[in-house]
Amino acid sequence: MNPEMPLNPLLADASARAIRYIDGLGTRPVAPTPAAVNGLSAFDESLPDKPSDPAETLRLLDDAGSPATTAMAGPRFFGFVIGGSLPVTLAANWLAGAWDQNTGLFRPTPATSFIEQVALRWLLELLQLPSDCAGSFVTGATVANLCCLAAARNGVLKRAGWDVEGKGLFGAPSITVVVGDEIHPSVSKALGVLGMGRNRVVRVPVDGQGRMRADHLPPMSGPTIVCTQAGNVNTGAFDPIEVICKQAHPSGAWVHVDGAFGLWAAAAPSLRGLAAGLAEADSWATDAHKWLNVPYDCGLAFVRDHSALKAAMAISAEYLPTQSEFRNPSDFTPELSRRARGVEVWAALRSLGKQGIAEMIERNCAQARRFAAKLGAAGFEILNEVVLNQVLVSFGDAAKTARTIQAIQDEGTCWCGITVWQGKTAMRISVSSWATTDADVDRSVEAIVNSAKGLP
Ligand SMILES: *Cc1c(COP(=O)(O)O)cnc(C)c1O
Repeated sequence: MNPEMPLNPLLADASARAIRYIDGLGTRPVAPTPAAVNGLSAFDESLPDKPSDPAETLRLLDDAGSPATTAMAGPRFFGFVIGGSLPVTLAANWLAGAWDQNTGLFRPTPATSFIEQVALRWLLELLQLPSDCAGSFVTGATVANLCCLAAARNGVLKRAGWDVEGKGLFGAPSITVVVGDEIHPSVSKALGVLGMGRNRVVRVPVDGQGRMRADHLPPMSGPTIVCTQAGNVNTGAFDPIEVICKQAHPSGAWVHVDGAFGLWAAAAPSLRGLAAGLAEADSWATDAHKWLNVPYDCGLAFVRDHSALKAAMAISAEYLPTQSEFRNPSDFTPELSRRARGVEVWAALRSLGKQGIAEMIERNCAQARRFAAKLGAAGFEILNEVVLNQVLVSFGDAAKTARTIQAIQDEGTCWCGITVWQGKTAMRISVSSWATTDADVDRSVEAIVNSAKGLP
């Protein structure tokens, strides 16, 4: 036997296959081919009766699964504002996966709980949020919005003398929820799950970039939650959060920020103007699996009032040592049992440092401007002011734009999605991957222009 031969050939095979996959991301079509998607029928077996060689299962996964994936981790995927995975974060994910720590309670999982705590402290510093905020690592910004709004519900009702966790919403003082007209649907969903209603909201009109118009905020009194956003999912624009906080706070209203990707502007010196006043809010939701480029799934909730988040999320049971001098992650999350999400975040922050993160964010924003300049010069209409990493492109009327986007996806050099924004159908380019180079932008522009030219 080769002395170099690893003890666990299955895991060695998995890492070799994963590395091969990643090495091929830059040269394969971004969207899977129709043949690859048809090849998924290989999985359509009946449930086996007997055990089989695990190596064979892994082989099938790679042979039939890998080609039918979309190259989201590659350098030319520009859909949905999602990032790839920095190599160090995938490596940390593998090691933490081997640890298999159920990171709900500190005592049994000191390593992963402690690493999360350090990552949290670093995040608050990086994002320029109050250093004593409570925080949680959850699956994504949707659940982060849910955690923040659960804390908000606790906070505004507690001030009105009502214990919402104990007594529920039946008979509770009414809560006014104020949202911008271009609220992200995940915030609406969180409001629905929390019993505050997806539609039972006061909608504030927005301006031509989708920003909430602070001059149209309703007068506020009594329990009130204002849901703002840092980074409109179409335009990248920011609500005037500083002004909104000034209007909302005197009456005791809670201001929440959905900053799934936009919150990261606070980490980049040249973008701090956009992020002005963010730290005045009461809660913030963001994603790490978007602009920080860690593997799925990883979102973050930050809440100024520790007790509100803890009251909304902590459980207690006789056999669980939840009273401790340590921070138990599950005191702040909807889950009890959970994977150690903070490990990848820690690895990204530690290896990039403040400068590396600022460089990544600023580079992606410069690349968005590069897309806009080149596509504009090629004669296509750019619909938004490119203030962050989002570019909206029109190729003509709705049908033509939709046909062009389909042709671009089929051609395979890059992948951009479709959106309808302020009544117009557009292609949305989101630049948020660590792996994207300027050459990738230029190659993508060329492919986009050629695909558009080839259409009637
Ligand atoms: C992506 C996004 C969300 C939802 O985040 P998930 O990670 O998909 O749950 C919420 N708000 C905004 C602005 C987003 O861009």
